[in-house]
Amino acid sequence: MSDSLHLVCPSCHAVNRLPISRLDQGPRCGQCRQALFTGQPLELTGATFGKHVSRNDIPVLVDFWASWCGPCRMMAPQFVRAASLLEPQVRLAKVDTEAEPTLGARYGIRSIPTLALFKGGREIARQSGAMAAQDIVRWVRTQL
Ligand SMILES: [Zn+2]
Repeated sequence: MSDSLHLVCPSCHAVNRLPISRLDQGPRCGQCRQALFTGQPLELTGATFGKHVSRNDIPVLVDFWASWCGPCRMMAPQFVRAASLLEPQVRLAKVDTEAEPTLGARYGIRSIPTLALFKGGREIARQSGAMAAQDIVRWVRTQL
């Protein structure tokens, strides 16, 4: 088993290789020096989505949402809270389906909010509907 893992920087999108022992020690990006974990979900676009989902060795939890969706706005602070609880074991990210319609279509997102959990570049679980932070955390841990 490997004792290091790859993490994609949320700021510059460089792929970092990090000893697992440093994961929970506030690691910084070797390229841009920004924190690799900020306690905030990362906004993904068509340009960055594939890299984060396929190159991160930690699972990536994606919230597909839109600004016109009331339940999405309601869940947003819960998702931020879930990020602070799940990092650095899981990367949390958001996709604005209105700004990025091709991503929503590619993953067949029919209702929002939808949470999709990716591991090793593959979607392993999906859940639709607004959830509280604790329920998000519990759901993710059940899948992993
Ligand atoms: Zn960086």
